[in-house]
Amino acid sequence: MKDKTIGIIGGGQLGRMLAMAAARLNFRTIILETQADCPAAQVANRQIVAPYDNPAALEALAEAAAVITYEFENVPVAAAEKLAARVPVYPPPKALEVSQDRLTEKRFLNAAGIPTADFRAIDSDDDLKAGLEAFGHKGVLKTRRFGYDGKGQKVYRSAEDSPEGGFAALGGGPLILESFVPFVREISVIAARSPDGTVRAYDPAENVHRDGILHTSTLPASVSAETARAAMAAAEKLLAALDYVGVVGMEFFVLADGSLIANEIAPRVHNSGHWTEAACAVSQFEQHVRAITGLPLGNPRRHSDCVMQNLIGDDIHGLANWLKLDDALVHLYGKTEARAGRKMGHVTWLTGKKA
Ligand code: AMP
Repeated sequence: MKDKTIGIIGGGQLGRMLAMAAARLNFRTIILETQADCPAAQVANRQIVAPYDNPAALEALAEAAAVITYEFENVPVAAAEKLAARVPVYPPPKALEVSQDRLTEKRFLNAAGIPTADFRAIDSDDDLKAGLEAFGHKGVLKTRRFGYDGKGQKVYRSAEDSPEGGFAALGGGPLILESFVPFVREISVIAARSPDGTVRAYDPAENVHRDGILHTSTLPASVSAETARAAMAAAEKLLAALDYVGVVGMEFFVLADGSLIANEIAPRVHNSGHWTEAACAVSQFEQHVRAITGLPLGNPRRHSDCVMQNLIGDDIHGLANWLKLDDALVHLYGKTEARAGRKMGHVTWLTGKKA
């Protein structure tokens, strides 16, 4: 049994969709998550109900699984490394370390030859003042760690936005100031790398955020073939630099001239890749399962154009209408309470055959 069991750290919707894809390829899944009956555990074979760094729980997970993966990037690195001494952990813990801190992440991307916004570490209001002056009084101040869905950020637009108190306002922890990127659109690439180094990348999606949360991903993105290729090549470069195994999500800003600035990486399946389950034969979830279990990767080509929309909070009450839509795949996450800002599900509708 152990050789057919995948351990997944984290019990949200990404873990749920990984567990479903794993089952189709005859793998069993075991979820490590504090919250009992979490979205992933509802469709998995077993759940260990414990915090992600609980030693006995990690021991039990290593005992039961042949390979361990995760569905969110804030898994404690020490826990991932401890597990990696016992069983393969994919993506490698180094990917967690890099993506957990925006400063480390940007330095790593630049070292791999991938451009990002200019940035500075900010540890005081004085740092912030100097940074804003250097960036023409425009920039985005962010927490270095634990920011998600646009939380823990402040935008500075002109000299009238005073840096006074900015450091404390974001919690007084280590921050990063990024220069303001005048992007015309945002895209992301989902790519996978197998243990033998094979890389397959899906076409870039064009993403629109609302209140800092992904609202829609549209395929194809309105970018030139050259920009699309450059985004896929950057993802490939990143995967090689991390000696990566599994699926990565990489977000980019697109400038008016079509050039790219990398924004963020997520060492996991990604919300902007949900469209792949409706418009490709092999979804990002199956691709991740294939990569971490050493199976051949699937062809990532898409057969159709599509739009994926997240169902957030009260959007779920419009479910009946989504279910009536032609050529639409509705995916719900098993969450009972529709709180504001909470991702309850998503729908992908096909908009025609790929041109
Ligand atoms: P993030 O959490 O880094 O993905 O940022 C959330 C959103 O804020 C992005 O999707 C952009 O729309 C915007 N944003 C973040 N960083 C910058 C930047 N350096 N310049 C301009 N807009 C940004």
